[in-house]
Amino acid sequence: MVYLQLDELEKFAKKNHIPIMQKEGINFLTDYIKKNNIKDILEIGSAIGYSAIKMALVCDDINITTIEKDRNMFNLAIENIKNFNLENRINIILNDALEIDLKNKYDLIFIDAAKSQYIKFFEKFNKNLKRGGTVISDNLSFHGLVEDDSKTKNRNTKQLVKKIRKYIEFLRNNENYITTFYTLGDGIAVSIKKAN
Ligand code: SAH
Ligand code: MG
Repeated sequence: MVYLQLDELEKFAKKNHIPIMQKEGINFLTDYIKKNNIKDILEIGSAIGYSAIKMALVCDDINITTIEKDRNMFNLAIENIKNFNLENRINIILNDALEIDLKNKYDLIFIDAAKSQYIKFFEKFNKNLKRGGTVISDNLSFHGLVEDDSKTKNRNTKQLVKKIRKYIEFLRNNENYITTFYTLGDGIAVSIKKAN
C-alpha cells in the first residue's frame, strides 16, 4: 500500500517537474539513516514531502522537521504527510529557512533547497547539529554541469554552477567537518561534524 502511494508521489513529481530526490540519492540517504541510527532530522526544502516521508518510513521513532518556503508546495506536502499518517513525526514549517531560528539539535541536516544559498544554510544551521552529526547536501553535480559547464550557455545557470563549486570548496576547506563526495544521484556530499 505504502509502495503504491510512494509511486504516485514519484509520478506526480515527474509530471509537474518537481525536483524530488532521484532513486539512487534517496536510497543512499535512507541507508545512511538506517546504518547510523539517526533519529532527529532537519530538512531544508520539503517540496511535496517525498524525501521527508521516505526518511520517516525508515523507522517509526524517527522525527523530522522540514522547512518549505513555497505555499503551494507546503500545502501539497501537508496533504501527502497526512495520507501517510506521519503528521505526528513530520513537522513542516512554512517559511524561508534563512528567516527562522530553531532551538533543537539534530543528528542529520539534509540540505536540498536553493542551490545558491547552500553556504548560508550550512553556516546558519551548524548550531543545530549535534557533535558527530551529519550534513548531507544534494544536487552538487547539477546534472553534470558542475563537472563540465560547457553544456550550457545560460548565464544564470553558469552563475549557479559557480555557486555550487564555491560550496564544494567551502566544504573541502571546512576544518570542523570531514566531507566525502559521492557521484551518485545528482551528486551528494556527506559532511560529518568533528566531535571536538
Ligand atoms: N527534498 C525534496 C525536494 C526539494 S526541492 C524531495 O527530495 O522530496 C527544493 C525545495 O526547496 C523547493 O520546493 C523550494 O521551494 C524549496 N526552497 C528553496 N529555497 C528555500 C528556502 N530558502 N527555504 C525553504 N525552502 C526553500
Ligand atoms: Mg535535490
